[in-house]
Amino acid sequence: MVLGIESSCDETAVALVAQDRTIVAQSIASQDAQHAPYGGVVPEIAARAHVEVLAPMVERVLADGGMELGDVDAIAATAGPGLIGGVMVGLVTAKALAMAGRKPLLAINHLEGHALSPRLADAGLRFPYLLLLASGGHCQILEVRGVGDYRRLATTIDDALGEAFDKTAKILGLGYPGGPAVERLAQDGDPRAVALPRPLKGSAEPHFSFAGLKSAVLRAHESGLHDPADLAASFQQAAMDCVIDRTERALQQAQGMTALVVAGGVAANRALRAALEALAAKHGLEFAAPPMKLCTDNAAMIAWAGQERLAAGLVEPGGDPLSIAARPRWPLDPDAETVRGAGV
Ligand code: ATP
Ligand code: MG
Ligand code: FE
Repeated sequence: MVLGIESSCDETAVALVAQDRTIVAQSIASQDAQHAPYGGVVPEIAARAHVEVLAPMVERVLADGGMELGDVDAIAATAGPGLIGGVMVGLVTAKALAMAGRKPLLAINHLEGHALSPRLADAGLRFPYLLLLASGGHCQILEVRGVGDYRRLATTIDDALGEAFDKTAKILGLGYPGGPAVERLAQDGDPRAVALPRPLKGSAEPHFSFAGLKSAVLRAHESGLHDPADLAASFQQAAMDCVIDRTERALQQAQGMTALVVAGGVAANRALRAALEALAAKHGLEFAAPPMKLCTDNAAMIAWAGQERLAAGLVEPGGDPLSIAARPRWPLDPDAETVRGAGV
């Protein structure tokens, strides 16, 4: 049994996950209401909110699972990448629990949590798979060759896909977080109504770019000529066209993939899931996506990444050192060629 803690952005989450993939208990507290007035996550507010709810949440999740700290095999917490204040709150809490309970600490990469989350729900999903990791801070395509073995094929040279959804929502006055609101509004619009660019579509390397698309949405909105639903639908269509083109390019570069997999918050988008499923079918690949609740940030994926690391023998006896530091940046593939202007 692994206790997982997630606090890298604006969700405080705790979960207990067994080796057999059972989510024994879990809790998620969203801070959306606290950040909504600012139209995005305010790091200082986030860190404070994590402090307020985390310790009681750990107690409640243990109680819900009918367990005590002594029954747990290890304590896993996100150690990065993310907003450093929030990551520190979760990691320090995990260290205190590890010390008090004499349990191994597992310092988990949040992106590894997303990357392995599809295997939590689907025991049949095997390595190696091609992963589109699309979230609020990242948009990458990776070969997931095994636990701890990731090769990055593509990243964004400017905005992440979730960020593009959030900025579009802000332009259209839909509030924060924007992804689900844009998806909902797009259902009532015509995806061909507004001509928008498809940045990097057709380019040789499978990288992403969404900043120009967002600027075009802003200009189209300011023209006053377009219905917001048409604009939302046209934005979503343009973004999907880019993602499918880029993912298909990556598929051509990848070797021996068994499945096409999507994870991260934007994996909750139905249009994206449907388009990727069709792409997978075209290439004769399995398609996998986590259930909706495991797409956006949660602690079950962090606990599960801990289980995967333990099972793969990647954890030192006694766990990670209690001196380990929170990391604002932490690439999954440290060998990845850096793209000018891109995040990790
Ligand atoms: P990272 O994982 O890169 O550190 P994060 O943890 O903030 O970023 P996640 O919680 O994984 O991000 O994902 C949140 C993002 O997913 C937000 O940008 C949100 O708008 C987007 N998102 C959530 N649901 C949908 C949806 N249905 N359609 C499009 N985007 C969505
Ligand atoms: Mg969030
Ligand atoms: Fe995330």
